Amino acid sequence: MASVGSITRQIEALEISGGGKNLPTAPSSSSIRPLHTKQPSQTNVAKLLTKFAAPNPFPNSKAAHPPSSLRHPTQALPTKQQAPAGIANATTQASIDIGKYDGGLEIDEEKRGEVVYGEAAEDLALDSSVSRKSPTREWHLSDFDIGRPLGKGKFGRVYMVRTKSEPRYILALKTLYKSEIVQGKVEKQIRREIEIQQNLRHPNVLRLYGYFHDTKRIFLMLEFAGKGELYKQLSKHGCFSEKRSSRYIDQMADALSYLHAKHVIHRDIKPENLLLGINGELKIGDFGWSVHAPGNRRKTLCGTLDYLPPEMIESREHDHKVDLWALGVLTYEFLIGNPPFEDRSSVQNTYRRIAKVDLKLPASISLEARDLIARLLQYDPQRRIPLSDVLRHPWIIKYRPKGVIRQSAEATA
Ligand code: AMP
Repeated sequence: MASVGSITRQIEALEISGGGKNLPTAPSSSSIRPLHTKQPSQTNVAKLLTKFAAPNPFPNSKAAHPPSSLRHPTQALPTKQQAPAGIANATTQASIDIGKYDGGLEIDEEKRGEVVYGEAAEDLALDSSVSRKSPTREWHLSDFDIGRPLGKGKFGRVYMVRTKSEPRYILALKTLYKSEIVQGKVEKQIRREIEIQQNLRHPNVLRLYGYFHDTKRIFLMLEFAGKGELYKQLSKHGCFSEKRSSRYIDQMADALSYLHAKHVIHRDIKPENLLLGINGELKIGDFGWSVHAPGNRRKTLCGTLDYLPPEMIESREHDHKVDLWALGVLTYEFLIGNPPFEDRSSVQNTYRRIAKVDLKLPASISLEARDLIARLLQYDPQRRIPLSDVLRHPWIIKYRPKGVIRQSAEATA
């Protein structure tokens, strides 16, 4: 089975020029956990994968097959687009080992999932080939070579796959069982998650290249996050160094700035929803709680308790500034290893601590990081430091790799 390391080594073996620097370095180690081994320089890999990952490898084209029977026949067929950049490097992706398939899809097919009918079936007849904004070619499961399992989610499995057709792109294919979505009464939420994610283009936002469905399942063609879950890294190391934390927060702030400019509030920022690209770059995934809300202030209570801001636990209206609070919680958790208002004795106590902004900053946190955390964790959303200022904060600037230029896309802060 291919490991991320072996994929990285295979990519590194390719001759692409460039100096090696500017990757998150080894974090400070926890006393009980094994030392994090420093990754080899991967700037070459960065260049290579940027070529693969940045353009949409699945441009619009005329659908080869008639539209699915579940779809409205009146929807427009996709138009043609030019071939994407990076296609010349396709042979390199063709040579990457995607690992061994475990037969999980067939096992699941027997065990779980029923055909969904009626309105729910209409809601879940998701197919990017007829997406009004970014139509793709029509895709089917048979268009992919399936490799190793990457993980199991709430509604199905995730696999490393490669397109059979040139340029043989590597992706993560995520399956969602329609009947389980219906049982969980989240048809609309899933639809919204997919629609939001498909229109996002940012290096720190996991790209959704396309999606298709059959009678029982929805398949999401996601950007492959080669280094997996950030949460696992955090559990492994206990906490991250100031440098590594600062670099992640820099990327988060840039991605959030982009999302907010597009009127997308994430609302569920936490380590479990963050993935790492093959170069260790952060990728915001999981848009389950995202809200596309131009000019809208919302009242729904959602998100994870430890990351909820006072206005949400007090059921007041909230806006994009909930993500600023969550960024403060995330910064603290990266540096200390647990969220700032956590109280394991009871949920009520956590609520109380959040409402009082009962923030205790350990002395191990640098003055600059303390300053940023305190500016983000403000009770009054209006007083929270805007993302444009996070991107200029001394703690962020101090560790930002040379040559990285951030232009805040923030429109609403
Ligand atoms: P999810 O259903 O999104 O919770 O995914 C289940 C697991 O699959 C995650 O915890 C990850 O370990 C893995 N996974 C999901 N999406 C990707 C991806 N795009 N790239 C790599 N691994 C992924």
